[in-house]
Amino acid sequence: MQFEPVIGLEIHVQLATESKIFCCCSTEFGNPPNSNTCPVCLGLPGALPVLNSQVPEFAAQLGLALNCDIRLDSQFARKNYFYPDLPKAYQISQFDRPICENGWLEIETETRGKRRIGITRIHMEEDAGKLVHADGSTESLVDLNRAGVPLVEIVSEPDVRSAEEAKAYMEKIHAIATTIGVTDGDMEKGHLRCDANVSLRPVGQEEFGTRTETKNLNSFRFVQQAVVYEIGRQREEILDGKQIVQETLLWDTSRKVTFSMRSKEEADEYRYFPDPDLPLVHLAPELIETFRKNLPELPDAKRQRFMEEHGLSEYDAEVLSADRKMSEYFEKVLTYGAAPKLACNWIIGDLTRVTNESGKSLKEIDLSPEHLAALTKIIDSGEISSKIAKIVFEEMLASARTPEEIIEEKGLKQVSDSGELGRIVDELLAANPEQVEQYRAGKTKVIGFFVGQMMKQTQGKGNPAVINSLLKEKLGG
Ligand code: ADP
Ligand code: MG
Ligand code: ZN
Repeated sequence: MQFEPVIGLEIHVQLATESKIFCCCSTEFGNPPNSNTCPVCLGLPGALPVLNSQVPEFAAQLGLALNCDIRLDSQFARKNYFYPDLPKAYQISQFDRPICENGWLEIETETRGKRRIGITRIHMEEDAGKLVHADGSTESLVDLNRAGVPLVEIVSEPDVRSAEEAKAYMEKIHAIATTIGVTDGDMEKGHLRCDANVSLRPVGQEEFGTRTETKNLNSFRFVQQAVVYEIGRQREEILDGKQIVQETLLWDTSRKVTFSMRSKEEADEYRYFPDPDLPLVHLAPELIETFRKNLPELPDAKRQRFMEEHGLSEYDAEVLSADRKMSEYFEKVLTYGAAPKLACNWIIGDLTRVTNESGKSLKEIDLSPEHLAALTKIIDSGEISSKIAKIVFEEMLASARTPEEIIEEKGLKQVSDSGELGRIVDELLAANPEQVEQYRAGKTKVIGFFVGQMMKQTQGKGNPAVINSLLKEKLGG
């Protein structure tokens, strides 16, 4: 029997506000436990929440970018449950009057092409605290720094049909939300967390099967892996004649399996009701129109433009347009006259490797776009080889010097002078008569040996084209 996966995703996005959603505490990451707290986010009796106005503004901007209708008088509701990381014993969220509804976004995968995924709703809510389980101890500690950090939850329609699409969807949400600047989108800090609802149905059947929900997937890779696993697991259960149990699962990142967190018996009964401490959230229609007009160029449009305007391949354009800081940096480099393809290669190649390895942002690395453009021009002119260019690049990261200064200072200029290179070739041939014989006997592959030796002799600075033609000429003679 053939099965079709049906997948709906709920993504929590941490908003990039400086202070929390209902108090003035800082949202800064990595501070000592419980230092970013006050009576409001500690849930002390009598403390009252006051909405940070930046939160509905960010949520509305995201809603517009995701083609949603924006509600001009949305409402906060209490979601009641007991857990030690939730001091009030309710989470302030939204229920039947969320700020955004009825949106969609377009994803593209190799297998299924372009597809539109419906967005049911986006609502605002506060994050909970964190339980810390100290090594070797049975104690659980509570850190409430994160309690009250503003989130939006984006709920998709069950329109996703594969693990590949689930990953593409999460990547697209990340690209759009970071491009409009409502989140820093830092995956290591948990700024995007996805719950994946997965069910199977026989191909051709209209009705959905029973679903499971795998919670808290905090990387694109985990979403893909968990959905692949869950599809496989459910298929086997069904083929074994078993019923799928509706349950909440967690993803074990090291064993690469899902495991049960709670079953339907303990299913959520949150007793939602409007929060009497918070008034309706009013947004002026004019404000929404201003947001609509001021939305920046979104990733899809940017990708298209990069292909048309700068002649980039679809792949290159996709990688650059998914990251606002990177794409802005790229266009800055181009203003200094760099060739687009070469600039793109350096940015998505070496520069990205450096940001990944160091954990630093582009801004922290602070490589002058003008200097990078200069480097691409020097490479283009053939003055240095790509190997030497890497050395120059590393030096550029270490100091604010121009590539010209570095090349001059380190004597890295390419040697193309055939007189000078010719002398070295002569010496080399004289010192290796055996290989010369082999070449002349028809084993032309040994030319590789000589090229290697020449590069060694010139410390990588010999012009490969000149060396090759010199070698052919002298060996042939
Ligand atoms: P709940 O109220 O239990 O959270 P929702 O109706 O809000 O459930 O749905 C949560 C998510 O689950 C949505 O993204 C939705 O698209 C998805 N979903 C609902 N039913 C199914 C199903 N049978 N299979 C896969 N996903 C589903
Ligand atoms: Mg839900
Ligand atoms: Zn606080």
